[in-house]
Amino acid sequence: MIHSGSDVTATSVELVDVRKSFGAVEVIHGIDLTIPEGSFVVFVGPSGCGKSTLLRMIAGLEEVTDGLIAIKGREVTDLDPSERGIAMVFQSYALYPHMTVRDNLAFGLKMARTPAEEIAARVASAAGILKIEHLLDRRPGQLSGGQRQRVAIGRAIVRKPDVFLFDEPLSNLDAELRVSMRIEIARLHRELGNTMIYVTHDQTEAMTLADRIVVLRDGRIEQVGSPREIYQDPDNLFVAGFIGSPR
Ligand code: ADP
Ligand code: MG
Repeated sequence: MIHSGSDVTATSVELVDVRKSFGAVEVIHGIDLTIPEGSFVVFVGPSGCGKSTLLRMIAGLEEVTDGLIAIKGREVTDLDPSERGIAMVFQSYALYPHMTVRDNLAFGLKMARTPAEEIAARVASAAGILKIEHLLDRRPGQLSGGQRQRVAIGRAIVRKPDVFLFDEPLSNLDAELRVSMRIEIARLHRELGNTMIYVTHDQTEAMTLADRIVVLRDGRIEQVGSPREIYQDPDNLFVAGFIGSPR
């Protein structure tokens, strides 16, 4: 059920029997999931299991075929992405190449007609959090992969969303950068305290970032639990094999 905003343990995102079909093919088969306020939830599972589709439905980038999605107790199933209080972090190549970092960060706020002083303050704050103050006048082509990924995250931070959505944000980075960015994302979660929903097929990212892991397979949830529960007490052989086997 959809709760009012006054619950003691507040719910951030709730999915009720969410389904998705592309044409005649159902790829998400009735997902029920409650994500607590401030938690770091990781959707993990093999390629094609429906992680991105599920995240895009929460974001409003993909229509729900059946079921309900609520954010902070308010049903958002039919709302536009901009009305949901979410921000999605895309891979770094989604930056605008012709704009400076500052303009990349400010762009969404300008579109939303945020006052200029407010934009400047939020850009400065996000740049401070991500340690990219010295890069504000550069363009994406003049940045390293890790710097570009920080800017992509900064674009989400300036919007002050209730919920951050990440879809494999580190998959384009080399192994060393992936580790340092993973640590930064964990720090960001501690500092901002927002709900974060993070999609990956990388078990190490799931185990190290998550408060709660959602293991998906073929459009269904196999298990939900803390990293420790999933690792030590897998519900079935699929979960055991998936989390247990190094890639
Ligand atoms: P994951 O992110 O876990 O790799 P996806 O959510 O991208 O998986 O895909 C889940 C399933 O839905 C796959 O079988 C994929 O082929 C299918 N799918 C995703 N997007 C579309 C689309 N736009 N049209 C048709 N099928 C799609
Ligand atoms: Mg995907």
